[in-house]
Amino acid sequence: MSVISSDVVVVGLGGFGSAALWRLAERGVSVAGIDRFDVGHDLGSSHGVTRLFRVACMEHPGLAAVARKSLDLWTELGERYGETYVEQTGCLSVGGPASRPIQGTTAAAAAAGVEVAHLSHEELVRRYPQYAGHDAETVGVFDPEGGLCFPERNVRAQVRAAAEAGARVYPGTRVTSIELVDGGVRVVTPTAVFEAGQAVVTAGAWNAKLLPGLPLRPRRTPLYWFAPRMDAAQSFDLAHFPSFIYELADGRSVWGHGSGDGFHIKIGLGDHGHDDTDPDELDRYIHPRADVDRLASAVAAAFPQVDPVPVKAIPCMITNSPDEQFLVGRPGGDPRLVMAGGDSGHGFKHAAGIGELLAQIAVGERPYGDIGFMDPDRFAA
Ligand SMILES: Cc1cc2nc3c(=O)[nH]c(=O)nc-3n(C[C@H](O)[C@H](O)[C@H](O)COP(=O)(O)OP(=O)(O)OC[C@H]3O[C@@H](n4cnc5c(N)ncnc54)[C@H](O)[C@@H]3O)c2cc1C
Repeated sequence: MSVISSDVVVVGLGGFGSAALWRLAERGVSVAGIDRFDVGHDLGSSHGVTRLFRVACMEHPGLAAVARKSLDLWTELGERYGETYVEQTGCLSVGGPASRPIQGTTAAAAAAGVEVAHLSHEELVRRYPQYAGHDAETVGVFDPEGGLCFPERNVRAQVRAAAEAGARVYPGTRVTSIELVDGGVRVVTPTAVFEAGQAVVTAGAWNAKLLPGLPLRPRRTPLYWFAPRMDAAQSFDLAHFPSFIYELADGRSVWGHGSGDGFHIKIGLGDHGHDDTDPDELDRYIHPRADVDRLASAVAAAFPQVDPVPVKAIPCMITNSPDEQFLVGRPGGDPRLVMAGGDSGHGFKHAAGIGELLAQIAVGERPYGDIGFMDPDRFAA
């Protein structure tokens, strides 16, 4: 069996890991990156063409700094490769004045200095008539820095940039174990052993298989695309129907965005409504009743001019942590390990920013932002 040596080895080259590989290689670190599948594959969590991008994140005010770091890094990469990695069409939070999208986005914007626009019901319906005909209490908060990012495209660009900066990349190589040894790690695969001082573990839904004991629960969560009804009076393209998170008056919530170049209208259920899964046993069949019915009824209630039967659906996974916040740092304080995971369904927009944090932790730099709320050991007590 061959032995491959580097200072750092990154296990898992999805959203977080490909960014860590790039940020480490840019620093001149000797780094190898391994993935069990191809770069930009559709078998983990980072696929399905688009993800919502937001800066005023209702999930935690501290995430604004991470989203902005992603934006800076992806803008730099976009200039280098002539591609778009974030499309800033804005992101709209919609709901009653006390709803989580309105309260959470308003609080996060205030804490992070994001200049959001507060829309009364009348302003909301005038600017976005797709929200007409609903509860008169429904209002909006528009984050102009929000929009879309592009999982497969961004992952491929991050791996390309890493390789150009000297990283060695090993797709199609499944890690079977990570052994902690004196002064470093041995990362074992069927064809080679990777020896390094540290492992950055970014295996998404598989993280807890490689680092047992992590409080992570992968969940089967398909992605769905829709088309407007033939007689729809409103336009549902991205320019007229930007990214949104919408809590309906009955408490259900939906998220999504309008159609664009190469993609239909995307809509998902806020609580996702699906079951925990073993990532190696993921059910990749879309069940017309069990999967689609609940979402279709929410789509019909939220946007009657959209046909509630999806035109396309594919399986995907999120990985929940107990507080639905990421785990980023050194698990158990071990100097041989750095990890990122527990995306809880809102991680891709932060991928480049998290990759930068992982690189900073690995090389001992001071992180650019507060990472205490993402401490992987916060549940230990
Ligand atoms: C339906 C849905 C909607 C979402 N919407 C949004 C959104 O709008 N905005 C947003 O920001 N985020 C969103 N997310 C979340 C976002 O997609 C995830 O946070 C992000 O993709 C997680 O990236 P990751 O690097 O943790 O996982 P992945 O991208 O899955 O990367 C993990 C990698 O590890 C590899 N791997 C695993 N085990 C091994 C092994 N043993 N050996 C080698 N390699 C291994 C895998 O092959 C994979 O490539 C959504 C997710 C879903 C499912």
